[in-house]
Amino acid sequence: MSPLKREFERIKLTPDFYEDEFRCPCPRHERNEPSGVKMDEFFVAMLQDIRDDARIAFTITSGYRCPEYQLEVDPKVPNSSHVRGMAVDIACTTSFNRYRIINAAVPRCNRIGIGKEHVHLDSDISLPPAVIWLEE
Ligand SMILES: [Zn+2]
Ligand SMILES: [Zn+2]
Repeated sequence: MSPLKREFERIKLTPDFYEDEFRCPCPRHERNEPSGVKMDEFFVAMLQDIRDDARIAFTITSGYRCPEYQLEVDPKVPNSSHVRGMAVDIACTTSFNRYRIINAAVPRCNRIGIGKEHVHLDSDISLPPAVIWLEE
């Protein structure tokens, strides 16, 4: 069966994640353009595994970004894995949730950015592996 399953107009990517959670938020796209389908399917499957282990709900604050939007939000990082649909930012403001996300992510996901209000996860093989950095 196809991993893409329609349910009430939303496109379900995995048991817990829908395409619209990963859309590029910039105004260049048609209102209902499903840009979240540009997420890498293996990455989203990995994210589901991480979520299963973390046992908490994930609120995605950034998923796919078109190249133009990436330049707007972070001009110093034009090569972000968000542009390739291989990264997410997950809302996170508590030490409890931060531990759960990171504990479940390692070692599946070997590129982690920690921000004040989010955790960035990616496993983009075109970028340096096995790193954790601080984000603004
Ligand atoms: Zn965009
Ligand atoms: Zn990010």
